[in-house]
Amino acid sequence: MDFDTRLADAWVRAIAAAVEREQARLTELDSAIGDGDHGSNLHRGFTAAVTALDGLQPDGPGAVLTRTGTTLISKVGGTSGPLYGKAFRAIGAALTGPTDPTDPAALTGPTALAEALAAGLDAVRVLGKAEPGDKTIVDAWTPALAAFRAAAASGATLPEAARAAAEAAEQGARDTIPLRARKGRASYLGERSTGHQDPGATSTALLFRALATVTAPDAKPLSPSA
Ligand code: ADP
Ligand code: MG
Repeated sequence: MDFDTRLADAWVRAIAAAVEREQARLTELDSAIGDGDHGSNLHRGFTAAVTALDGLQPDGPGAVLTRTGTTLISKVGGTSGPLYGKAFRAIGAALTGPTDPTDPAALTGPTALAEALAAGLDAVRVLGKAEPGDKTIVDAWTPALAAFRAAAASGATLPEAARAAAEAAEQGARDTIPLRARKGRASYLGERSTGHQDPGATSTALLFRALATVTAPDAKPLSPSA
């Protein structure tokens, strides 16, 4: 299975659906250690991303994800908008390029997607300067990427790699509970930020779970209006 235009489109729509479903939980988490807008920030951003895709005739998965990133940057005011926006633009850029006619999977197979997801994490880190353990998006994305890479390197299929990444991201998000925030709004709370799961790490887990869901062999296509 290749990460083609259809799957890229399905991924963004699945993230939008997951964010809609989990909006209240994300907001609740952000109310505990932030300003309570993470759910609404992402809902606004991914709803706009789906609208943008409805009007797009993309020429590959890279175009879908680049447009998604651009839309997130322009529609989300919170810290997470530019961070996720840059990440999706970097993933899109990594998946855009000349295909090798002798190896069509070179740009869209599990290994290529692993490198694109690595470019996404790099973009988050360049902009946000967070280290693992700072209680941010990085704490879910880092283990998810490691799991995805390890699976891809050992010859796993895209669904297998995506499932391993989703599980690692969910674990990474849970593992933020005891951490003290060192970046973003939650860091203003100092010690009082401990004991709460980080909202951004939680939404990153939703992103990776959505990837596992749309690549699963029995995945049902989401209609463009869903
Ligand atoms: P804001 O903090 O502006 O209200 P959001 O509520 O949408 O923005 O997003 C908050 C989340 O952003 C945090 O839970 C954290 O995971 C993430 N975050 C904040 N700063 C950084 C950073 N420097 N690097 C990575 N992620 C960050
Ligand atoms: Mg917030």
